[in-house]
Amino acid sequence: MKLTDLTISQAHEGLKKKEFSALELCRAYLDKIKEKNREIFAFLTVNEELALSQAKKIDNSISGGKKISVLTGIPVAIKDNMLVEGVKCTAASKMLEHFIDPYDATVVKKLKDEDCVILGKTNLDEFAMGSSTENSAFGPTRNPHDLTRVPGGTSGGSAAAVAADMAVYALGSDTGGSVRQPASFCGVVGLKPTYGAVSRYGLIAFASSLDQIGPITKTVEDCKTVFDAISGKDELDSTSVESKIRNSKFEIRNLKLGVPKEYFVKGLDPEIEKLVKAAIKKYEEMGAKIEEVSLPHAEYALPAYYIINPSEASANLARYDGIKYGFSVQEGKDLMDVYLKTKGEGFGEEVRRRIMLGTYSLSAGYYEAYYLRAQKVRTLVKNDFDKVFEKVDALLGPVSPVLPFKIGERIADPLSMYLVDVYTVSINLVGLPALSLPCGKVGKLPVGLQIIGKPFEENKILDIGKTFEETWTS
Ligand code: GLN
Repeated sequence: MKLTDLTISQAHEGLKKKEFSALELCRAYLDKIKEKNREIFAFLTVNEELALSQAKKIDNSISGGKKISVLTGIPVAIKDNMLVEGVKCTAASKMLEHFIDPYDATVVKKLKDEDCVILGKTNLDEFAMGSSTENSAFGPTRNPHDLTRVPGGTSGGSAAAVAADMAVYALGSDTGGSVRQPASFCGVVGLKPTYGAVSRYGLIAFASSLDQIGPITKTVEDCKTVFDAISGKDELDSTSVESKIRNSKFEIRNLKLGVPKEYFVKGLDPEIEKLVKAAIKKYEEMGAKIEEVSLPHAEYALPAYYIINPSEASANLARYDGIKYGFSVQEGKDLMDVYLKTKGEGFGEEVRRRIMLGTYSLSAGYYEAYYLRAQKVRTLVKNDFDKVFEKVDALLGPVSPVLPFKIGERIADPLSMYLVDVYTVSINLVGLPALSLPCGKVGKLPVGLQIIGKPFEENKILDIGKTFEETWTS
């Protein structure tokens, strides 16, 4: 087995048994990045020197007899909207093209405390707005399974890096599906944690009531390892909560799994439907009780999301005014002119669209008709989930209604891009945890199964995912 094929747990075993050093492991990944990044473009920044020096330091402490944790020495890729002290963080925007991070995001600090090796920063849609990683100001990432297709988004760089063996695991962020959908498109595992389970401190804010950071890995077991490392309350993020993560203990034959009927309607690719239904069948064969359930407001989640998300984004992005930090057009006839020129030139099209949509729905006279109404819909969507979770342990369904699409296919039509998020956004509106894991392929294109859990039942959905992963062949 090549070093770049290893999972976290395998790499950890190898390091422990001294089959290879952290430096060798790190070099193998840096070589792989050199070989593949030009065509896939998963990384925006590669920290060669920093990674090698971290790896050397780890080797020294291992030879000095230090006990290592499961993430010690394991090379990781970080989405380029999370801060790593001293490294550039662009959010894939011209606005932050030269921005150097003054401190570490809490998730990064937690991984550093485990002595991880940070390989670099991965590509995304600008400010994490999009579903394909095509909105990056620096060029699109390509899907390793088919280079003419998108890797999904917005954590497309992170998912492609793991899928193409350019990192053992990666961190992504999920505001409306951005960990789960690229994981599904790239054939890897992605977890969107419960809102508040993971600190958002040092994550560049997009839509603060929806954003969560999550792991992207090769296996469910690795996903759990990373989630355990990054979760927990953080004084620096007031929305993070004391670890309420429940332990999971169940027997598959006592498990009740719900299948929302609204997730299998027109618009879902029949090939995806076939694979997801086959996965559901497998759970039934393993002894789980499968029950059709209804989420009557499911169809309103997407429109509500695309009001709430731009509203919050427009408020968060107000800080990029060309004065405090980032890109700045200095010449203007007055301050307003400088603001307008800076934002006009520094932000790409999708970001400007969201700012305008959000500002509109928050403005006097429209607030009640749009933003307030969308928040009421959000409550209805939440009530739907609360109700079904009285009856079932978890929900099963597709991650995306479509297969990885061609680069350029949807980019000119924002609505067709937004529709890709139809099965993922409601989870963020409600703050639930959800896992995406591979359940088959159509030709060479991977398809993901989504497992949605009750708040703080990450361990349960991970264990449910694992039972499927163990049976999965092909
Ligand atoms: N595609 C969704 C959007 O554009 C989700 C993005 C995300 O999760 N960061 O808002």
